[in-house]
Amino acid sequence: MEAMLDTLIKTGFWRGEILNRRKDGSVFPELLSVSVVKNDQGEVINYLGVFSDITNLKQSEEKLEHLAHYDSLTGLPNRVQFQLHLQHAVSRSERSNQKCALLYLDLDRFKVVNDSLGHVAGDDLLKMVTERLLSRLRASDILARMGGDEFVLLVEEYKQREELEVLARKLIAEMNQPFYLAGEQEVNVGGSVGIACFPEDALSSEDLLVRADAAMYKAKQAGGASLAFFTQDILVEASSRLTIAAELKRAIADNELELYLQPQLDSASGEVVGAEALLRWNHPVKGFLTPAAFIDVAEQTRAIRLVTGWLVKESFGIIKRWEQAGRDLFLSFNISALDLADNELLLRMSEELQHQQIKPANIELEIVESAIIENFQSASAILSRLRELGFQVAIDDFGTGYSSLAYLDKLPVDKLKIDREFTSKLELGEGAGIVKSIVDLASNFDLRVLAEGVETLEQEQLLKQLGCHRVQGFYYSKPIPLAEFEQKYLLPQA
Ligand code: C2E
Ligand code: CA
Ligand code: CA
Repeated sequence: MEAMLDTLIKTGFWRGEILNRRKDGSVFPELLSVSVVKNDQGEVINYLGVFSDITNLKQSEEKLEHLAHYDSLTGLPNRVQFQLHLQHAVSRSERSNQKCALLYLDLDRFKVVNDSLGHVAGDDLLKMVTERLLSRLRASDILARMGGDEFVLLVEEYKQREELEVLARKLIAEMNQPFYLAGEQEVNVGGSVGIACFPEDALSSEDLLVRADAAMYKAKQAGGASLAFFTQDILVEASSRLTIAAELKRAIADNELELYLQPQLDSASGEVVGAEALLRWNHPVKGFLTPAAFIDVAEQTRAIRLVTGWLVKESFGIIKRWEQAGRDLFLSFNISALDLADNELLLRMSEELQHQQIKPANIELEIVESAIIENFQSASAILSRLRELGFQVAIDDFGTGYSSLAYLDKLPVDKLKIDREFTSKLELGEGAGIVKSIVDLASNFDLRVLAEGVETLEQEQLLKQLGCHRVQGFYYSKPIPLAEFEQKYLLPQA
């Protein structure tokens, strides 16, 4: 009241929130504006007050406040709110010499549900997951949703690590039980948990979060439905992952990537009909790197998309040059699941096609079956569009994945590449049965079929007998630098 008078005297105006009482006794917030009314002599003769009921305004303010701190889908604290909790917990633990721990949980296969059954089903699933997780917690534990299918759990005042392990196992077991969506649709997901403890693993709330996340990543790598405690090696691994990803970006800009080509042949004529492009990295410090040193990491991070973007440009340029030399050879290159998660690859390929005007059938994309199936809707839609544009699609490493008939007739592909593993077992008789069935399968679905990893004459002959017309492998040629390939296979036949 005093402050209000003070302001009124000084400025002639005051505005602020006050609480008023309705006739029924309920209290409501009001916005009160008071102006001083003076006469010609400048003397105060009156005060003019305007009240407005701001209940609605207040409610939306609270809603906004809530939105900023809580996840609207599950009602759980969100990342922002959780970070506050965590900071408090860490300083409490510091003061009281107590421990606290963070469990980072990520659902396995959530993306499959979301992609195949739609976002509504995905949302329902997340709500059910939340309920199940909450049912396993003590009142003092705090569960939050970090976004997507990631949850974190803050556990204060535990005594031993075993307690955390028991808790994590319970959560994993809950996630392993089937969920029943609307219409009794059964879905099976699963969950992986990473654990980091204060003060052993990290001294700040930020580090604790990063380390629990890194441990979760480790648990995922073990194949899902498992848990991992944070250890120092995880940190080293995580930072080397980031380094490789960042370095790849630079490598592309600095022109350190190079393509090696491995010919693909028609087994009857022995003629080279095309080639697979395989990536090599001339690293300024580490030297000449094969994909084993960096492709996995690139595929786990978004770096692979840069690589694929680079491949598109290179491949079109190569085909253009070959066409100009009068050679009708195709070039295949490898793409990854992440490349089919959105439209970027499709856009790039169609733009490049308009730009370069090459024969699209001379570009082939190789992709492993799992990359299509695990993200079926989006991946198959994109591959279908690419095929409509005239590009070819091959399934790589065929036979090692699902290879289920149920899928095969739904996959938008032109060619199967029989995995090297089966080629290598041909002479032992073991592989022959598998190769024979893949060849039969392919001819049923009108697909071309190629055997990878051919290393001997005997393998070649067996493949011919089994009806496999295309071959690739060290027996014909190792992957060689582009210039060498062009010298060998481009010029003489021109
Ligand atoms: P992949 O697509 O299955 O490629 C075939 C791999 O088998 C190549 O290894 C090739 O050198 C090797 N190979 C070919 N013939 C034979 C043979 O007769 N015997 C044996 N033992 N091996 C043979 P590389 O070049 O080290 O590539 C390894 C993997 O890295 C590739 O497997 C592919 O999955 C990935 N990769 C390579 N280049 C790229 C790329 O540009 N993008 C993406 N996303 N992945 C790539
Ligand atoms: Ca391949
Ligand atoms: Ca392969």
